[in-house]
Order: sequence, then C-alpha cells, then structure tokens
Amino acid sequence: MISGIQTAAYVFASILFILSLGGLSSIESSKRGVLYGIFGMLVAIAATVFGKDVEGHIYIILAIVSASFIGILLAQRVKMESMPQLVALLHSFVGLAAVLVGIGSFLDVGVKEITNTEKTIHLTEVFIGVFIGAITFSGSIVAWGKLEGKISSKSLIFKGRHLLNIFLVLVCIVLGVFFVISGNDFGLNYLIAMTFIAGVIGYFLVMAIGGADMPVVVSMLNSYSGWAASSAGFMLGNDLLIITGALVGSSGAILSIIMCKAMNRSFVSVILGGFGTVSSTSKSTLIEGEITALEHEEVSQLLIEAKTIVVVPGYGMAVAKAQYPIYEMVKELQKLGKTVRFAIHPVAGRLPGHMNVLLAEANVPYDIVMEMDEINDDMSSTDIVMVIGANDIVNPGAEDDPSSPIYGMPVIKAWKAEQVIIMKRSMSTGYAGVENPLFYKSNAQMLYGDAKESVEKILGFIRLNQ
Ligand code: NDP
Repeated sequence: MISGIQTAAYVFASILFILSLGGLSSIESSKRGVLYGIFGMLVAIAATVFGKDVEGHIYIILAIVSASFIGILLAQRVKMESMPQLVALLHSFVGLAAVLVGIGSFLDVGVKEITNTEKTIHLTEVFIGVFIGAITFSGSIVAWGKLEGKISSKSLIFKGRHLLNIFLVLVCIVLGVFFVISGNDFGLNYLIAMTFIAGVIGYFLVMAIGGADMPVVVSMLNSYSGWAASSAGFMLGNDLLIITGALVGSSGAILSIIMCKAMNRSFVSVILGGFGTVSSTSKSTLIEGEITALEHEEVSQLLIEAKTIVVVPGYGMAVAKAQYPIYEMVKELQKLGKTVRFAIHPVAGRLPGHMNVLLAEANVPYDIVMEMDEINDDMSSTDIVMVIGANDIVNPGAEDDPSSPIYGMPVIKAWKAEQVIIMKRSMSTGYAGVENPLFYKSNAQMLYGDAKESVEKILGFIRLNQ
C-alpha cells in the first residue's frame, strides 16, 4: 500500500519537475516554473521520508528543518551579484552528497549481503557515483573560488596537462577494477584513493578554465551535479532521484551547449577542461585613439536629442543595483517619444540570465528587452548606445583580435552606433581581464562613476529639462 502511494507520489513529483523546467524556459513563465519545482520537491521529500524502509524520522525531520533554516537565511542574505558563487557552492554539496552516499552505501551492512552479478553492478554504481561526485565537488569549489576572487581567474595551463588528466582517469579505472574484484572491506581503500584522485581531476579541469569562459563551466557543473545525484539514486535504489538527477544533468548539458554556441566555444573542450586558452594578454593590439569623458548633464542632453537609444547592461549594473533608476530613466525618455530598448548578451553578468532577472525585478516590460542576436543588426541605425557597467560583452577585440582570450565570442556591436556612452567607475578591465578598444573609439565617450549614482543624476537633469 505505502509502496504504491510512494510510486504515485514519485510520478507526480517527476511531472512537476518537467513542468518546472518547461516554465523556466521563458521569463514570463519562470515564476510558475519555480513554484512547480518547489511543490514537486515537497512531494518528493514527503514521499521519501514517510515511504517504506525509512527509520529515525525524528532525526531526518530535525535535519530537514535546520538545513531549511540555514538555506532560507543564506538565500535572504546573498547579494544578487554573488548568486553564481552560491550556485557553485550548492553544486559542490550535491557532489559531496554523492561521495558520502557512495561510501555509506559500500559500508551498509544490508548491502554487504548481496552477491554475484547484483553485487558487481552495485559496486560499479558506487564507484562511478563517487567518481562523478568527487569531480563535481572539487570542480565546484574551484569555480566558487574563482568567482569569489579567492583563486585567480586566469587559466592554469601547463605542458602535459591533458596527458596527466588521462593518466589520472586510467589510474581510477584500474582502482575501479580492483575495487569491484576485491568486493571485501579492503575495497574501501581503493574507493578512498579514487575519491582523492577524482578530486584532483576536478581541480585541474576547472583550474584550466580562464575567467571569460566561466559561465559555461558553471552550467556544466550544474549538469555534473545532476549526474552525481542520478548516480546517488542508483546507489540508493531511488527511482525519483535517478529521474530528477537525469533531468538536471541533461538540462544543464543542453544549457551548456547553448552557451557554448553563444560564446563560439567547443562543447567537447569544455567537458575536457581548458578551452579558450589562447595565450592571455591584457594589452589589445587594436587600441588606437584617445579616451574622452563626458559629464552627467552632457549625457542627459545627448539623450534628449537622440531618437533611438539602446541600453546594454552588464555586471556593473548588478553591483550598483542600478536597474531601478535605469527603468525610471527609460520611462522618462519614452515619455519624450524616444525608442528605448535593452540589449542582453547571453553571458552578461555572472550567471546565465542574470540581466533578465534584474530587469524583470525592476518591472521592465519584456517587449523592450532584446537578445543580442535580435538587436545587433539595428546597432548601426541607433543614435546612442548606453553601456552601463558592461565591458567584455561589448569588446570589439572578440571579433578582430586573435590574441584576445575572448576572441571568437559573439559580442554586442555597440561601436556601430552613432554614439556610445560607457558608464563605469574607472578604466579597469572586466572579468576576462582584457583591455577594451571600444573605449578609445572616436564615437565613444566615458561617463565615470557608480552606475546607480550616474543614472540618478542623468534622470535629474532630464526631468529638469522638461
Ligand atoms: P565585465 O565583468 O566584463 O565588466 C563589468 C564592468 O562593470 C567592469 O569593467 C567594471 O568597471 C564595471 N563596474 C563594476 N561595478 C560597477 C559599478 N558599481 N558601477 C558602474 N560600473 C561598474 O561584465 P560584462 O557583464 O560585460 O561581461 C560578463 C563577463 O563575466 C564575461 O567575461 C563573462 O564571460 C563573465 N562571466 C559570466 C558569467 C555568466 O554566466 N553570465 C559567469 C561567470 C563569468 P569599473 O571597475 O571600472 O567600474
């Protein structure tokens, strides 16, 4: 009876997870998608905790309540610009969970009683699950360190790196064979040795990725964490965990493929770690001309005179929390009859969809928020492009400078507009650490200062002029 109800609840939760993924595919339905996900997870947890063969409910409920408390506290405190770090950290938890489930499952007395083929299959599941989990764990910790600035965002490249990785994988395979053949308590030594080596592989894979390519790595680790959860499902014999993990794993992989296309990178090289590894240089060969700067009042005048305006937001908008005054400014300009649109680069900010979330938070209508591909052709007929806290995503070196680490990445062609105004605090580089020749172009001018303060000042001048 209980088993039947549990199966029905698992099927229901799986449907909710699929609906959730469907909902998350567009901005309009994303909130609904999140609600489906939350409800599905509640059903899944209840069906598992109160399902068959589960004991010690009091401890489980205590763990869930205290972990939920920590989770809610963390989610409330995390700043929007620190979300990618939090996501990377959460991926590492999934990896660690898979490692612990694997080791626990190997030590489980009940499991020790199984024999023959069943035993071989179970030990193989444990070994593969712990392998994926350890790579996900250490890789995610490195990704967190790079995003948080605790580890240099430069790629760690050395001669023989791929050979070393292949050698380490081969050692793990040999350990796996010994582990399955031994089948006794001594096998734990092979399992732990492999966990350590897989952790080193994860470390090297993500250390080899340069700053500019981190977005794909974050979504790839999301995929790895899904496969780690799925393998934990095999070890525990839990169908829902297998399905949920596979959903996360495959959707993460699909997102990675989409992002690879957006950044013109090879998907295979992402999985193997270390791509976009053109010798990094912070000096662009394309820099010609002088930097010129404007004051806030001058910018407001230019905006009042313009007919078509495109706003390109980037990471600096998230840092400054400038989305609210930006939308106020856009509404004022619309009242003056200007056509104002936003241009969103797929990797603007530090998280896929980062800019879309922030603009939605400020209630910017979706119909004026354009994807890069939708708006790039209109740049040459645009009067003013306002680049607000963005840098790498408007770097012409990505198109023209083969020595640039971001060479090949499609960018928003802001320089094609009649005039470009770049709003940032200084001349410092963006995440990829490369200089931006756009700032030196004759049609480009800088407006220095914090994005929020600058937009508020411009807004004040526009209102004064009405
Ligand atoms: P960048 O990091 O290239 O540039 C952001 C710019 O914002 C900086 O040059 C900085 O200049 C400026 N800035 C920072 N704070 C403020 C502020 N308070 N007010 C005004 N300006 C500010 O960001 P982009 O969005 O252009 O590009 C994203 C980069 O991040 C890409 O290289 C991408 O590959 C990478 N990335 C993206 C991820 C994703 O999933 N989207 C994940 C990880 C990395 P200054 O200090 O002078 O003010």
